[in-house]
Amino acid sequence: HKQRLVALEKDRMFGQFAATISHEIRNPLTSTKGFLQLLDQKELSFNDHKRYVDLALSGVDQANAILGDYLNYAKPFSNLQEQLELKEEIEAMLRFITPFATDHQVAIHTCHENEEPLYILGESKKLRQCLMNLIKNAIESMPNGGRISLRTSKLPNAVQISISDTGVGMSKQQLNSLGMPFYTTKEQGTGLGLVVVMSIIKMMNGKISFSSHLNQGTQCSILFHQK
Ligand code: ADP
Ligand code: MG
Repeated sequence: HKQRLVALEKDRMFGQFAATISHEIRNPLTSTKGFLQLLDQKELSFNDHKRYVDLALSGVDQANAILGDYLNYAKPFSNLQEQLELKEEIEAMLRFITPFATDHQVAIHTCHENEEPLYILGESKKLRQCLMNLIKNAIESMPNGGRISLRTSKLPNAVQISISDTGVGMSKQQLNSLGMPFYTTKEQGTGLGLVVVMSIIKMMNGKISFSSHLNQGTQCSILFHQK
């Protein structure tokens, strides 16, 4: 009955996970509701009116950001094993994220060092969500714009994806905190993006590592071992 035990454990984990997320989303929604109620008063000054609208909107943005990090992750334990072609997955993800990059004056350069197509096993939606969360962090690390390079390569026993940015970088202490739930240095951050990334990579039996230099940039490397 081992299988049954595993399934129960997963249900329990999913229950906790869902509770955490709904809690995280309820907070900004409650604050939005509060500011909308304040807006419903007579004789508000123009400045207060504007302030309440901005605060209400920022609650919605926050809730949206939390959902964004999780969007395709709603079924964390469905674990499809599709044959994914890396270049195709990356291009699909880039179509989605490029407008956001352009808005932030960030150029994304891709380079497929391998000549032949590379395949890995996993679930397309999850891989794309994972890459998107990483690229989003890279974009957000460059408040004045910059450059991201995204490379794929074939190593002797592995397939590698690397993402580097020219952003603010991280200290050793920050590097050690990566992937801790709710760890964020951003005013509007969720601290959930990398939690999702790491759990997807784990599910796909991959390995992820980061190296970084303050004020120079960050490199992230993902390895999928191949037999
Ligand atoms: P969020 O982006 O909502 O803050 P994440 O889990 O995606 O949450 O990231 C957690 C933290 O890790 C970020 O707030 C940031 O401090 C740091 N971080 C992640 N990626 C990078 C990067 N490419 N450059 C600099 N800091 C990063
Ligand atoms: Mg993030």
